[in-house]
Amino acid sequence: MEEYKLPDLPYAYNALEPYIDEQTMRLHHTKHHQAYVDKLNAALKGQDALRQKSLEELLSGLEIVPEAIRNPVRNHGGGHLNHTFFWKIMASGRQSAEGETAAAIGGKFGSIDKFKEAFSASAAGLFGSGWCWLVLGKGGLEILTTPNQDSPLMQGKKPVLGIDVWEHAYYLLYKWQRAEYIKNWWNVVNWQQVESNYQQAMRI
Ligand code: MN
Repeated sequence: MEEYKLPDLPYAYNALEPYIDEQTMRLHHTKHHQAYVDKLNAALKGQDALRQKSLEELLSGLEIVPEAIRNPVRNHGGGHLNHTFFWKIMASGRQSAEGETAAAIGGKFGSIDKFKEAFSASAAGLFGSGWCWLVLGKGGLEILTTPNQDSPLMQGKKPVLGIDVWEHAYYLLYKWQRAEYIKNWWNVVNWQQVESNYQQAMRI
């Protein structure tokens, strides 16, 4: 089996400026994400049976992963999957929510603005390092936070939208002001990708 590889960003490192700066994007992608990929490959070295499975399958059912490498697979596998998801959920050029996702968000949270408010509050309130997600689960859409690099798949929930609130995602530009980063991040959300994620999650 081929090893996991760092995916290219779907845009230039400076494409999300002024909301996310070039240096943050470059380090986040080439150092942080690369490290998750490298450590995931190291953990799975020689594990041919596990390499036959997709990362989604492994994270959805970590009990099949031998205990000795379960935490590395959870942390670095989650890190690889979460960041691959995160790059795609952003784009340059401000977009508005539309399509079925917008309707479903409106139905669940009252309006897009109310959803953004609730999501932003969850993301800002998460203690320590982790992620805030909009996920589709058995009960429909919900806002969820996960610590570290845990994936919503570990709870049987499909990510539709997600923000990395580890300090490495914003500290160079925003310093301690996580709430400012979150507020500005809405300007780079790729709502077309959100719609595509939602459609895909509905099919499964
Ligand atoms: Mn990150």
